[in-house]
Amino acid sequence: MAIHILSDDLAAKIAAGEVIERPASVVKELIENSIDAGATEIKVEVRGGGQRLIRVADNGCGIPAAEVETAFARHATSKLESADDLFRLQTLGFRGEALPSIAAVARVTLITRDRDEESGSEIRVDGSKITEHHAQGAPAGTIITVEDLFRHVPARLKFLKMPATEAGHIGDLLNAYALAYPHLRFSLVNEDRLTFQSPGTGKMFDVLVKVFGIETAKQMLEVGNWKSDSDSNLQLPPSNLQVTGFVSPPNVNRGNRKYMLFFVNHRWIQDRTLQHAVIEAYHTSLMVGRAPIVALDVIVPPDMVDVNVHPTKSEVRFRDTSMVFNAVQRAVRAALTANAPIPSITVGAPFPRQDFPPTPSETQLAINLHHPIPTSNFQPPTSQLPYSQPPKLPMLRVLGQIASTYIIAEGPDGLYLIDQHAAHERVLYEQLTAERAGAQVAIQELLDPAPIQLTLAQFAMLQANREALASVGFKIEPFGNQTMLLRAVPGLLKRGEPSVTLIAILDEIEQGEAPLEKTSEARLISSVCKSIAVKGGQVLALEEMRELVRRLEQTTAPRTCPHGRPTVIQLNVAQLEREFGRK
Ligand code: ADP
Ligand code: MG
Repeated sequence: MAIHILSDDLAAKIAAGEVIERPASVVKELIENSIDAGATEIKVEVRGGGQRLIRVADNGCGIPAAEVETAFARHATSKLESADDLFRLQTLGFRGEALPSIAAVARVTLITRDRDEESGSEIRVDGSKITEHHAQGAPAGTIITVEDLFRHVPARLKFLKMPATEAGHIGDLLNAYALAYPHLRFSLVNEDRLTFQSPGTGKMFDVLVKVFGIETAKQMLEVGNWKSDSDSNLQLPPSNLQVTGFVSPPNVNRGNRKYMLFFVNHRWIQDRTLQHAVIEAYHTSLMVGRAPIVALDVIVPPDMVDVNVHPTKSEVRFRDTSMVFNAVQRAVRAALTANAPIPSITVGAPFPRQDFPPTPSETQLAINLHHPIPTSNFQPPTSQLPYSQPPKLPMLRVLGQIASTYIIAEGPDGLYLIDQHAAHERVLYEQLTAERAGAQVAIQELLDPAPIQLTLAQFAMLQANREALASVGFKIEPFGNQTMLLRAVPGLLKRGEPSVTLIAILDEIEQGEAPLEKTSEARLISSVCKSIAVKGGQVLALEEMRELVRRLEQTTAPRTCPHGRPTVIQLNVAQLEREFGRK
């Protein structure tokens, strides 16, 4: 093919592809425009997962009649004049790409009236072409309707997920923006039903209640509430950098990082470094594979951050990454230590739980015990790796618990450490599989059926898995408006709040864990067992530990959990002797 210039239409569609990936990207761009326009009320309406229709209405400043057409031109913006402005930005938008990109891949109707003008305008743009433009009476503010998204871009259309899933992404997006802008009132109407509304009180906590429910919100810890600089435990952040928001205590956690939300100057961003900083702040108190709930806003002077990194503006580059990393980590640690639970170790005399950072010897021990992977110290050539050991367990005598997470036991050949969570998962997995094979899953009717408020995404996940969940003992009924009524749970579920467990299972299913399992049934069972198993960090009575170990001994594969991780690591007498320099 000879080199030629792309047609305007094709070039516009290609450019749009960078900004508009799915319906939620449209909603993101439109609500950012509403926020930039100084709106205090932003109403979002969605049909067909946003593919059929997205409407965003705001009470912002509106667009002057003379500028309405320009707004749809590529690189047309009212927010930026010179390159220097990029480092003084107070707005979310600046690239002038959103409206032309959306109009290139959908049918757009814009009705707007500038606050200072008498009359408003209506303009229609279809596939980048203006098809209509006339004066129109309208309230001050802007209403944009986007219909038939990607109708002419079959490649994108094909990649869209089920409407409920796309609507779920939009729901997540509104949650995030409502947390970042607690003084604004956001609402989401999905298929004519109001599914989310933020109170607009100016308090992030009030939005947390709406997003995660009062029970979870109440447990969240406030970050960056720097009270006094005389308190030597609190290291103040550099005065030009502020970290504020909420994080969950270690025992309130999720199966994926979706609920770790970061904002930089209220801009919602994806940043692995910040995720890492926060996870590290929890140190070992968070179970492996679990993530906290986080909503943190990092406020920095605009010249310390480059927001022009990515077309969707969802990534930023800090001038001094390590300073931000440290500030976030310190702020989260301060919140966690200020609220640290009473030390709880049941082995031997009361012993203060290690705090951040651990001493070198503690680190050494922790590393060796946490990783059953061969290390030069613990795996001499003659010893057997956990994986190659005989599959069965010997009779074990339970001695106690370490870090409320590992059961310590003595066996015929030395010391055994059992991961209580992994062990319980294995026990539950075999029991539930056996019960299902015998077609008699034990269920437990709840005396008090529990209404569970779900996010849109969770609701969709539950709908899709309701039958499968019923087959393992969860009896669930729709209860209107993103709420489900939990009537019965598996008989195996002995601990914890049933509704919390159910949400954990939904998270687990969504994450698509348990890749080892071949059938979707086995994956579901393994998600259920993971969620109902006793967690790391839970104190167990000696009798409970004995019972758990006894049941583990009876399973067919006691040495691994259903996800393939080891349940037991062993230190044989020969290793102990070598460690103590006896041989
Ligand atoms: P950007 O936000 O990067 O400037 P957009 O394409 O998103 O680019 O919007 C183009 C321009 O249209 C904006 O700069 C703004 O002047 C105007 N505009 C868009 N949406 C709104 C709105 N909801 N209220 C007021 N003005 C708007
Ligand atoms: Mg914009």
